[in-house]
Amino acid sequence: MTPVVGLDFDNTIVTYDALIHRTARERGLIAPGTDINKRVVRDEIRRLPDGDIEWQKVQGLVYGPLMGAAQLIDGVDAFIRRCRAEDLRVFIVSHKTPYAGYDDTRTNLREAALGWMEAQGFFDPAGLGFRRDHVFFESTREAKVARIRELGCTLFVDDLEEVFAEPSFPSDVTKILLTPEPSGGDADGTVALPDWQAIHDHVFGRPS
Ligand SMILES: [Mg+2]
Repeated sequence: MTPVVGLDFDNTIVTYDALIHRTARERGLIAPGTDINKRVVRDEIRRLPDGDIEWQKVQGLVYGPLMGAAQLIDGVDAFIRRCRAEDLRVFIVSHKTPYAGYDDTRTNLREAALGWMEAQGFFDPAGLGFRRDHVFFESTREAKVARIRELGCTLFVDDLEEVFAEPSFPSDVTKILLTPEPSGGDADGTVALPDWQAIHDHVFGRPS
């Protein structure tokens, strides 16, 4: 059977780590030596008074008005190009609300994401070759899983285990978890891999 590939967007295709670090530094929320890592920065901000609100404000900025400075994760483009070369269908299915909880600019987060994709050549036939209607934003995790099922994805790549743990997640879809610390085999059949090179090799086999 020909694979149908589904990809999550935030922290699977695009990384905000450097942007979050820079934004938090500029707002005086973290120490200079803090690791350039979303989770580390988040935990440090949350320890501040009103830290949870400050963290939400940083998120509102980086997913919204500052989105243009986010970075494509290494190896995503090579994976997508390989999918194109193999004539596989590729969809992006993202759990993304239209607006952030805290964002004075009221930037539409979905439009910001589409603008970023456009700038990265996602919709350029000579680039990553996506059609606009092959990119889906859903307001809930449940709706995201329903979309994955409706599209007939045979494999899905996500950085969040919670997506695969949704009771409605179809059992016949190969679950690839992009995680910096793969913990080996998983009882529910999730394949945990550290980077896009490893995902590429898992899906297409290692070059001989
Ligand atoms: Mg994600």
